[in-house]
Amino acid sequence: MTAMPTPWPATARRTSDGSVEIGGVALTELAASGGTPVYVLDELDARERARAYRDAFAAACAEAGTEVDVYYAGKAFLSVAVARWMTAEGLRIDTASLGELTTALRADVAPRDIGLHGNNKSEPEIDLALRSGIGRLVLDSLPEVTRVADAARALGVRAPVMVRVTTGVHAGGHEYISTAHEDQKFGLSLAAPDGGDSPALVAVLAVLERPELELLGLHSHIGSQILDPAGFGVAARAVMGLRAAVARRTGVLVPELDLGGGFGVAYLPGEVPLDPDRAAKEMVSALADAARELGEGDAPLPRLSIEPGRSVIGPAGVTLYTVGTVKPVRTEDGSTRTYVSVDGGMSDNIRPALYGASYHAEIVSRSSTAPAVRCRVVGKHCESGDIVVHDVALPGDVAAGDLLAVAVTGAYGRSMASTYNLVPRPGVVAVAGGVATPIVRRESVADLLALDLG
Ligand SMILES: *Cc1c(COP(=O)(O)O)cnc(C)c1O
Repeated sequence: MTAMPTPWPATARRTSDGSVEIGGVALTELAASGGTPVYVLDELDARERARAYRDAFAAACAEAGTEVDVYYAGKAFLSVAVARWMTAEGLRIDTASLGELTTALRADVAPRDIGLHGNNKSEPEIDLALRSGIGRLVLDSLPEVTRVADAARALGVRAPVMVRVTTGVHAGGHEYISTAHEDQKFGLSLAAPDGGDSPALVAVLAVLERPELELLGLHSHIGSQILDPAGFGVAARAVMGLRAAVARRTGVLVPELDLGGGFGVAYLPGEVPLDPDRAAKEMVSALADAARELGEGDAPLPRLSIEPGRSVIGPAGVTLYTVGTVKPVRTEDGSTRTYVSVDGGMSDNIRPALYGASYHAEIVSRSSTAPAVRCRVVGKHCESGDIVVHDVALPGDVAAGDLLAVAVTGAYGRSMASTYNLVPRPGVVAVAGGVATPIVRRESVADLLALDLG
C-alpha cells in the first residue's frame, strides 16, 4: 500500500492490486454497495485540517498576547455530521442562510458559537438568529443596521453584531490587488468620500447609536483560493485603521477583528497550498505592525477570528464516478483528445464551468501499464461546457466501468450542486477507520418528483 500524494486526502492509499482506499474503505466496495456518483469525505483529513488552522492561529495569537476563534465557513459544505466534527475540533460555525443556520442548530452547535452572514438577510433568518441567541450577526449594509436593531427591539433582546467592511483588497489565486473603490455587493467601503466619513465608519456609528445592538467587531473577507498571504496583511492594516478611527471619534475600542476565510488549497499535483502557520503569522504580525504604526503600542491587540471553508473541507473530499462512453476526438491541431464521460458532471461540480477551475483525476479501481493519453473528463449533461476535468493524463486503456475519482471536491461541490437535467444529487459518505458512513442521502428521482405538483 502506498500513500497517495497531494492533492489526494490524507488517508488515500493505493493497494497492491492497484485499487484505492480512503479511510480504510475500498472505493470499489463503496461504489458496488452505494452506487456512483458519490462524494467521499475523509473524516480524519477534515478534522486534521480544522485542528491545523485552530493550532496555527492560536499559537500566533498567543505569541502576540491575544486570542482567536476559528469559524468553519459552512457554505463550503455543511451537514449535521460535519458541523459536529468541526465543533469537536474546537471550531465554531459560520452560516449564511436559513438552511445553514438551521443545520448548525440541528447539530446542537451552541448558538453562541454560530455566526450569520449575508448581504440580504431575510426576516426569517434574522428572527431565527435572534430567537436562538446566536453569537453574532455580521451586518452588511446601513439598512441592515436598522433592520436588525428593530427586530432585536421587537424581541426584547440585544443583538451581537459585527460590521463587514470592504478594504479594497481583492485576493484570489496568486495575486491580490488593492483598489480605493469597490464595485461589488458585499460590505461597507472603507474609502471616504472627499472630507467625509467612509460608509463603514457611518455604519459603525449607527450601530453604536442603537442600544439594541452590541458592537462585537469589524469583519473583512477579501476573497477565496488565496495562495499569497500578503493580501491578508494589507486587509488587517486597513481594518485596524478603521478601529482607530472609531476609537478617536467615540472612545470605543472595538474588541474583535474577523479577517475572513479564503485560504488556498492545492487542486493539482505539484501545487503548493497556503500554509496555515504562514497565514497566521502574516495576519497577526500585520495587526501588531498596524497597532504600532497607529501609536497603540501598549494597548492589547484585538481578539481575532477567521473563517476557513475550502481549506478545511475541500482536500478531504473526492468525487467517485463510473466511466461510461470513451470517445477519441480529433482536435484542431490534428492531435487526439480522449473524451471520458462520467455518470455525473456540472450538476455535482459546477466550478469548472463557473470559474474555469482545474481538477485532477485518476482511475481508482485498478492500475494500468498502458501509456497515458490526453483526456478530458466530461459529464452527462446537455451542454458542451459540461466539463469535470479539462485536461488530464489517464491510461490509454481507460474504459467503461472503470471508477474515476476527482480530487479536492469536498468544498463547493455538493454545496453548489444542482439537479440540472433532473439528475438527482449524489450523496455524501464519510470514511474513517475502515467504516463508511452515509452523512447525506443520495437524492432519488422520486425526491425530485415529490416537488412536482403535476
Ligand atoms: C466564502 C466565505 C468564507 C470562506 O471562504 P473559503 O474560501 O471557503 O475559505 C469565509 N467568510 C465569508 C464571509 C465568506 O463569504
